Formats: sequence, structure tokens, C-alpha cells
Amino acid sequence: MARHAIPNVFALRCAGCRQSGSSLCRRCRFALASSPAVSFGPIRAAMSFDGAVRSAILGLKFANQRAVARHLAALLVRRLGLDRGSAAFDIVTWAPTSRQRLSRRGYDQAELLARATARRLGVPCRRLLYRTHGAPQAGRGRAERLAGPKFRVRQARPGVRVLVVDDVVTTGSTLRAAEAALRAAGVTEVTLVAVAATPGRGVRPLSPWTRTHVDFERHLRCAS
Ligand SMILES: [Zn+2]
Repeated sequence: MARHAIPNVFALRCAGCRQSGSSLCRRCRFALASSPAVSFGPIRAAMSFDGAVRSAILGLKFANQRAVARHLAALLVRRLGLDRGSAAFDIVTWAPTSRQRLSRRGYDQAELLARATARRLGVPCRRLLYRTHGAPQAGRGRAERLAGPKFRVRQARPGVRVLVVDDVVTTGSTLRAAEAALRAAGVTEVTLVAVAATPGRGVRPLSPWTRTHVDFERHLRCAS
């Protein structure tokens, strides 16, 4: 039997605090569930990008803590009510990271989150967006960088309802560029969500604090 096929539970580390034992410990799960949902223009985010939320997402992005994607997707769905009847989607997709980052990490964290979200919603996850190859980010002017990446769309039928999932929203330029590309391809219903939003100008609370405890209880039931 190949050595790597043996599951090693001792290798699991919490993405929030790096303690061994689970992909997200109980204390960090509570911290994540206590973080307020926010909106940033048309983009809704399940949490604020600081504290344990920040650690968990950075763990997913840079420390190969892929198992935490499932927990983050569970919070995304519950806290933004994506599983309610009024919010129905035909396809879940993501705004892909650059090819350089993908080859450095070996995976796209936005894709992992989109796939975990789609599984939870029982909706197919498809890649619809592709980055167009412009000049690298560093070689571009400030205005062009703020405008974000550009995407082209493949295989999107007009009339489908698309949910675009991202990890962190800072300027919103990536998700807005994704939406513009989808609309140009004839997709009329586009919903933009992120696991977290960087606190700052334009970020507003989305749900009352009183719901937090209920969210936490539900999250523990469905994600542990
Ligand atoms: Zn932890």
C-alpha cells in the first residue's frame, strides 16, 4: 500500500491557530461564526477579514490548509442565506487566480471554495471565467490595476443564474470584472459573494449581531 494513502489525522492543523487535531478547532470556529457578515456595494461577504477569519483564509491561500474550505463554504452558505428558496442558482463558479499564482500554489483557493459551496447547495460547479492575458499586474498603471483583472467567458448559456464565489474582497475589482464579463456574455442573473471582506470604507454590516449565536449552533451541527 502506498504510504501517502494512509490518512494521518495527526497532520491536521487548525487553519485559524495552527494547533494540531482538526482543520478548524472549536475555538476558531466560534471566532469565525462571531465575525459579522458585511456588504461591499453589490458584493456580500460572510465575515470580516480580521482575527481568526484572516488566519484561516491565509492558511487556505498560502499554507496548504485546504480542508478549511469546507468550513468556510458552510459559513458562506448559512450566513448569506444562499440555501434559501429565494436565492436559487443554476451554476456556481469562481474568478480564477492568475496562472503564476496557480502554478506556485498548485491549487486555486477560489475554486476550492466554489466547489465546496456548490456541493453544499447541490448545484453544479463549472468554470466559466478565464483570465485574459494582459500585462502582468506590476507592469500596469495604477488606474488599470485598480480596474482589476479582465476575464472572458466560455460555455455560459444566457439566462442561467450564476453565483460567483471569491475568498476575500478588498477593492471588489476582481468580482466586478467577473460580473462584467458574465453580463457581456448574456448572463443576466449574477450574484457576487466572498467569504470575507477587508474592513474599510464602503463595508457595511449585513446582519444583526443577535443572529450570531443561532448561526454558530447551526454551523457546528453542519460542519463538524
Ligand atoms: Zn484554531
